[in-house]
Amino acid sequence: MRGRARPAGRGERGRQNQGGGVALSTQTIQAVVIADYDQTPQVEWVELQDPGPGDVRVRIHAAGICHSDWHAVTGTLPLPMPMVLGHEASGTVTDVGPLVERVRVGDRVVVTWVPACGHCFWCLNGAPELCETANRGAVSGTGADGRTPLRWRGQPLHRFSWSGTLATAAVVPESGVVRIGPDMPWREAALLGCAVQTGVGAAFGAPIVPGDTVAVLGLGGVGLNVVQGARMVGAARIIAVDPVAWKRELARELGATDTVDASVDVLTALLDLTDGRGVDVAFEAVGQVPLMALAFNAVRRGGTAVMVGVPMPNAELSLNAFAFPSQEKTLTGSWLGGSHPARDIPRLEALWRSGQLRLAPLTTHTYALHEVPEALQDLLSGRVARPVVVFPDAEAPATRARTHDPAQAEEE
Ligand SMILES: [Zn+2]
Ligand SMILES: [Zn+2]
Repeated sequence: MRGRARPAGRGERGRQNQGGGVALSTQTIQAVVIADYDQTPQVEWVELQDPGPGDVRVRIHAAGICHSDWHAVTGTLPLPMPMVLGHEASGTVTDVGPLVERVRVGDRVVVTWVPACGHCFWCLNGAPELCETANRGAVSGTGADGRTPLRWRGQPLHRFSWSGTLATAAVVPESGVVRIGPDMPWREAALLGCAVQTGVGAAFGAPIVPGDTVAVLGLGGVGLNVVQGARMVGAARIIAVDPVAWKRELARELGATDTVDASVDVLTALLDLTDGRGVDVAFEAVGQVPLMALAFNAVRRGGTAVMVGVPMPNAELSLNAFAFPSQEKTLTGSWLGGSHPARDIPRLEALWRSGQLRLAPLTTHTYALHEVPEALQDLLSGRVARPVVVFPDAEAPATRARTHDPAQAEEE
């Protein structure tokens, strides 16, 4: 049995077999593991298998921390334990398994968390974010075959939604990575994995027409990106709502025209800002049932409320039923922003390159891997909108990279 202690003579990216064309078996990596619900996440040495058919191994350079990671810790998202946290990252492909066609060793990629199968009902009907295989694996913490490439203390180790990116490396399906250009900073690219796709995508998918007024309830990593998305599709007024003052100011920097302190009567404030009519489109970006109802109540007749935040799986929402026919309101949801990662991540990258999508203001707070518990506390307390773990060699000179790694010349 492999113990948890660091194996003698091997570094964090050490391998049992190196080079010579010999098939690799496992790699010992460091990963943020939760042993069980409500346990403090710990950095552990774990075994990561070689990529199997259709899989790639990615050396992680930067990884964002999402509220969903915290929900896994508490069991609000009842995922199988033990588990490696993390589901948005950037990194370099270091190994590819058989049958991989789209990416090569050395590619710089974003890792995302709904690796669509491409042939289920939803994939064939233009909704890969609802992919049956990918979402089943998200719940089971394993691949489609029920297995996981990770082991810890001799036992299978689950991973958060196919990814487990709060780790020095991850083995993920090819469809869970998308190539990015050489000039994109690792920490900014990482946010394309979840927060940006989810937030910007929700706005792009909503029925916003140029000149509309929208409200965004909750200004975390996702909500702030809804603000940016609404700006990019031409909303004239973007009302950003949050109890934390500095987040409201950050929202203004990203495109909000008005802000409301969430500790006041938000519904009245939103009605006051819209001549008593309500907003055209409202987004709930927290996952709290009362806020979801508030979003619905804050839209005008004929308006749309979009649920983006993730509530508990058994949560129920109570709304005035009469409002649906009599006010022609629409209530809808958005999962990963309705994103098709292979199509949309390059578009988001292009928007970043054009200056319309701003990522640097969202990546000001960085942490080392062992600081993830502190980062989670900072996320919960509202001190940080999106904590980003940056790995030691991610932003260091190329001399730290290994000589046979083709990615080294591209290190920032
Ligand atoms: Zn997320
Ligand atoms: Zn599918």
